[in-house]
Amino acid sequence: MSRQAPTPARQLSITIAGKPIPYILKTSARRHTLGLRVDQHGLTVHIPTRVPQRTVDSLLQDKADWIARKLAEWQERPGPASMEWLDGAALQYLGQDIQLVLRQDSKIRSLEFDGARLYVALPNPDDSKTVQRKVAQWYARQARADFTRRIELLAARLDVPAPPMFLSNARTRWGSCNSRGEIRLHWRLIQAPPHVIHYVVAHELAHLKEMNHRPEFWAWVKKLCPEYTSARQDLKAMSAQLHLV
Ligand SMILES: [Zn+2]
Repeated sequence: MSRQAPTPARQLSITIAGKPIPYILKTSARRHTLGLRVDQHGLTVHIPTRVPQRTVDSLLQDKADWIARKLAEWQERPGPASMEWLDGAALQYLGQDIQLVLRQDSKIRSLEFDGARLYVALPNPDDSKTVQRKVAQWYARQARADFTRRIELLAARLDVPAPPMFLSNARTRWGSCNSRGEIRLHWRLIQAPPHVIHYVVAHELAHLKEMNHRPEFWAWVKKLCPEYTSARQDLKAMSAQLHLV
């Protein structure tokens, strides 16, 4: 069985002026003072061990103006944000917030998901690369099962046999359909809400009828996905976020 590891870093959140501000809390036995840092990863709070949470909370409230100003400065800087692979980090699965739970274990265990938390147990939970790889593999497994099912359902509505599906990791496209009638769907789409996945699957399946983007093509998309215009906008709006993982 796995055991609960000491967690030197946690993802938390505090509400300042009505706005939730996520932050990383790092505890160190070597520290004697509380410290705040704002950088490209957001807000980090460094504390000695055994500092109560209310002390952290009141420090953050006292420094609210400074924090808001620094966060705004960083947000204005260009450059991609990146995901922090920490215990407690927020992930998305089918449009729902789920929580990453990291545990130390003597060997890498298969991931467990209870509907709200994704448990990752491995010898070194601070090894972000391995955590990221394990989570990506988990997403890909869920994606394969979910997309296959949707393709079967929608292909039946078009009265065509379900085409072969492959998961893709393409940088610029969420889905594609080639002249052999093979469909490729990006595994990261599994993070998106069901209506967005539905739209992408409907779009690629409609290419089995029309290999173009003429009005006849969009009529097939609409038949499978009447709300396709808003789903398409939602996908566009969340694309950058889906690529963070
Ligand atoms: Zn297309």
